[in-house]
Amino acid sequence: MSLKNRHEWNWQPTLPIKLSPILDWPPNFLLFFKWLASYWLHISSIIIEVLLAIFIFYLFHPSAEEMKNFSFSWIAQLWIRNCILITLVAGSLHFWFYYLKGQSKKLKFEKKFIDEKVKKFTFNNQLFDNIFWTIISGVTIWTIFESFYFWAASNDIVPIMFWYDNPFWYGIFFILIPIWSSAHFYIIHRLLHFTFLYKTVHNLHHRNISPGPWSGISMHPIEHILYFSTVVIHFVIPSSPIHVLFHFYQQGLNPAFSHSGFDSIVIKDKKRLKAGDFFHQLHHRYFNCNYGTIEMPWDRFFGTFNDGTKK
Ligand SMILES: [Zn+2]
Ligand SMILES: [Zn+2]
Repeated sequence: MSLKNRHEWNWQPTLPIKLSPILDWPPNFLLFFKWLASYWLHISSIIIEVLLAIFIFYLFHPSAEEMKNFSFSWIAQLWIRNCILITLVAGSLHFWFYYLKGQSKKLKFEKKFIDEKVKKFTFNNQLFDNIFWTIISGVTIWTIFESFYFWAASNDIVPIMFWYDNPFWYGIFFILIPIWSSAHFYIIHRLLHFTFLYKTVHNLHHRNISPGPWSGISMHPIEHILYFSTVVIHFVIPSSPIHVLFHFYQQGLNPAFSHSGFDSIVIKDKKRLKAGDFFHQLHHRYFNCNYGTIEMPWDRFFGTFNDGTKK
């Protein structure tokens, strides 16, 4: 294959990729509002995660009384709940994009599908490798953080806020969580690219040159600890349990969309839901660019931004 062909994509969005105008100077409030509206005023992965947080909190959440003491039963309940959620999200996306090949290569970034049998993966298989690290390490560390938080909340150790305490802040906090998560991710991700940590830890995630939905949180346990530590903010900033569940779903479920390898779900020639993220897809191909996410322009500030036009 020629060098030129190797660098070509099956499909790419309109370039250059745009980053959030949140820190643009002078401020452009209209542009920033439009940016937020593209996430919050449409059916998007973010809206699905907020709805899931509400649904889970009211229907499938142990009582505060039960969570006052650590016990196997409620922690196992959280672990199983998280396994079901990730399987529903990553499993459905994988089923549609890669098993059914429901939209063939329409809006697919890479030319090839995921690597089925390659030696670098655990079990010599990308899908089995990704499911293994997601469930055994990812969901377990996610559940440990979640259990600590809900144990602390049930014992009034962390500041709790309900919507009637401060409706304005309650609403704004949902918008701030992905922005905070993006800033946190940039810092830990830069750290993970230092040679020693890259070779021993982060390399596991980067086995996926052409990622799929299950690659999202297919990471080394040390990376999972760093990655989910973003939620520690709720130990100091007043939050509601729904904020916290949403934050966990941002961390645990959103990567299944952003690593799906496709820009959007297309059914009957119509885009139904935004899925993949070309910005992060570039990181999986070229490694040394786009360490953050498009929600915060850190990559532009630190000179690591590839807007899709550079090789
Ligand atoms: Zn990734
Ligand atoms: Zn990386």
